[in-house]
Amino acid sequence: MHAISPITGAQLLPIRNALDRILANDVISPINVPAHDNSAMDGYAFCSKDIHSQTTFTVVGTALAGQPYQHTLEEGQAVRIMTGAMLPAPCDTVLPQELASISTDATTPTSITLHLQVNSIRAGQHRRLCGEDLAQGHIAIPAGKRLGPAELGLLASLGLAEVRVQRRLRVAIFSTGDELRSLGQALEQGCVYDSNRYTLYGMLTRLDIDVIDLGVVADNPQALEQALITASQEADAVITSGGVSVGLADYTKQVMAKLGDIAFWSIAMRPGRPFAFGQLTHNGKSTPLFGLPGNPVAVMVSFLFFVRSALLKLAGAPSVRLPMLTAITTTPIPKKHGRTEFQRGIYTTNQQGQLEVASTGHQGSGVLSSMSQANCMIVIDADQGTVAYGDTVKILLLEGLI
Ligand code: AMP
Ligand code: MG
Repeated sequence: MHAISPITGAQLLPIRNALDRILANDVISPINVPAHDNSAMDGYAFCSKDIHSQTTFTVVGTALAGQPYQHTLEEGQAVRIMTGAMLPAPCDTVLPQELASISTDATTPTSITLHLQVNSIRAGQHRRLCGEDLAQGHIAIPAGKRLGPAELGLLASLGLAEVRVQRRLRVAIFSTGDELRSLGQALEQGCVYDSNRYTLYGMLTRLDIDVIDLGVVADNPQALEQALITASQEADAVITSGGVSVGLADYTKQVMAKLGDIAFWSIAMRPGRPFAFGQLTHNGKSTPLFGLPGNPVAVMVSFLFFVRSALLKLAGAPSVRLPMLTAITTTPIPKKHGRTEFQRGIYTTNQQGQLEVASTGHQGSGVLSSMSQANCMIVIDADQGTVAYGDTVKILLLEGLI
């Protein structure tokens, strides 16, 4: 998929509007966070150098969060300090309140003495260092990061109200097939409702991609050519479904081959064997094309395992390997050698905290209900045969991915 390079074009957005968007440039921290050494506990702050000579300290004042103690401490002095309050110079250590023993002088009740057990504290304890979260001048968030709740908070902690994000990717989709009917149309004999544009819409929207829906295109070379040209002109990438296998009415391959540099694959996988990928070129504009098979489960599986990472790359995000886990099967899984299978599974955590997985049952590539029941894909490599009960298999959790 090295034929894909990221789109250009960025926009400046208020940070709340930037949720789920992809960061266009590295964010360099303009300040240190925290801006000063401060206390991680409610307690007493003092200078650790004094510990050797002193076991008692005179408490000379109070430091609150947002209300610093304004003077420099002298040897043998301490301040009462609250969590988040700035450590006054030269304090570097905080004794938590619950470990502190305090006495007041009967004659001068305002004079408080802190008694320290030397081995109850180490130098530098309970201190949050200036810049320990984000250091001024360093990269706080790298370009390409998708902004989630943590990043919105980080940006706010840097005092940044706006952020530059990549423009949203625009992907055109259409379905091919004379048998397909759109919602609202009557379902004549031998016809099926087009579901692929809806699963694709859902998966693309989850990736924060704008969808240009070009509807159903008949198995007719002129209509297909026109749809591919329109799609390639309007979008950053085109996804079609159907017509890439070897059926009698499969003109899609011919038309695609005419309009661009497209490779047709017969991948040793199930579901999802036929697959087209390449660049459509029209009016000097090159647009990546993904020609997916027609079967509804094959569409979802090939999107997940091939298209998704390519679109992320196009959108400006670094490609990340899909996070595979391992689980113990609680059902045998029939499987033929020679092709990778992507079976729909339901994983659970057993009493020992281990992942277990069961097949959803019927694995036909048109059985879309299996995708709805599944919470993971079971990935069984080409060189593997039938999986026995209790064997370990690779699984990919679907939550958050599609
Ligand atoms: P094809 O790849 O065009 O040979 O289609 C394979 C199977 O998927 C056929 O049974 C089609 O009817 C079905 N199919 C193709 N496109 C869609 C679609 N958009 N929605 C639902 N089923 C489809
Ligand atoms: Mg077809």
